[in-house]
Amino acid sequence: MTDAIRPQPGILEIALYEGGASHVAGISDAIKLSSNENPFGPSPQAKAAFLRAVHNLHRYPSTDHAALREAIGEVHGLDPARIICGAGSDEVLLLLCQAYAGPGDEVIHTEHGFLMYPIAARSVGATPVRVAERERRVDPEAILAAVTERTRIVFVANPNNPTGTMIGPAEVERLADALPQGVLLVLDGAYAEYVEGFDGGAALATGRGNVVMTRTFSKIYGLGGLRIGWGYGPRAVIDVLNRIRNPFNLSHAQLDAAEAAVRDQDHVAECRAENARLRAWLAEALARHGVPCDPSMANFVLARFADQQEAAACDAFLQSQGLIVRRVAGYGLPHCLRITVGDESACRRVAHAIGQFREQGGTGR
Ligand code: PMP
Repeated sequence: MTDAIRPQPGILEIALYEGGASHVAGISDAIKLSSNENPFGPSPQAKAAFLRAVHNLHRYPSTDHAALREAIGEVHGLDPARIICGAGSDEVLLLLCQAYAGPGDEVIHTEHGFLMYPIAARSVGATPVRVAERERRVDPEAILAAVTERTRIVFVANPNNPTGTMIGPAEVERLADALPQGVLLVLDGAYAEYVEGFDGGAALATGRGNVVMTRTFSKIYGLGGLRIGWGYGPRAVIDVLNRIRNPFNLSHAQLDAAEAAVRDQDHVAECRAENARLRAWLAEALARHGVPCDPSMANFVLARFADQQEAAACDAFLQSQGLIVRRVAGYGLPHCLRITVGDESACRRVAHAIGQFREQGGTGR
């Protein structure tokens, strides 16, 4: 390789995104609680649609995703013309950066926000700007204070990952109101379905020219392995994103499974209820063992330890017990472990193991 072959500015500054681990050496039946996956999996109807897609493997899929957008529009009461579908919401986040930010521009994300925001910003040569949170909660005032004439996009996940905390509708609205018109506010609703009655920011995106909402089929819909997400925003923004989107970015299997999944809202409601019940149980069990969590609105809890050392020791102990959780030092939370709310037996196992760890003096020995 010669030095003459150089990537675009910003790309070599990207720290590679690492997904949650899924294996522990020497343990064959490890339980994965590191990627916020739905332990109950997708709707049976989504699985059936996926299987049926095998008959269409020789055909190119639709380029406009009309049937899926129609279904999403019906279920959420949104205009399908204002919806764009992508290979995970990651693709939509990236399209937003490609379309609206570039060298010299700033993209705001929050202190403990999703790592794909700075990655997407850097990939287009823009400068990610990290804004402090307040006690692991997004701080709209701090975001507004960080806006400059170079700011193009503000990313806010609500609920946030990996903290699980949320800001209320009045705070989001104030942020949308106070941002300059030329700044796009992206409300990332990857975990919105876990919050009963929450629209993920849809109403705000309906009424404003500079608000986009992103959603995913990877979390409550249990389709993370299939890669489907969507965005909803002003018609003009969606038109722009469609110009740079790969025409065949979603396969038949993705489109058909997602359509069946979104139409099965009973499955979503069941998963939401079970998650809320097990999340409360898990948080309480951890608190009893002296490990506090912020009140989480998502499908994971952020367990706080005394320091980085204790978090690392607990992580190692959990791994020895075949339990894989997520270290979140890369999110500015070295003293924390993010634990996905699994099924009942997984929750019991992880709570029991953390209890054992604490009884042994926080060393795991
Ligand atoms: N936003 C947030 C806040 C997330 O946690 C994730 C997944 N970890 C995503 C977006 C992207 O999800 P996907 O690309 O699977 O839709």
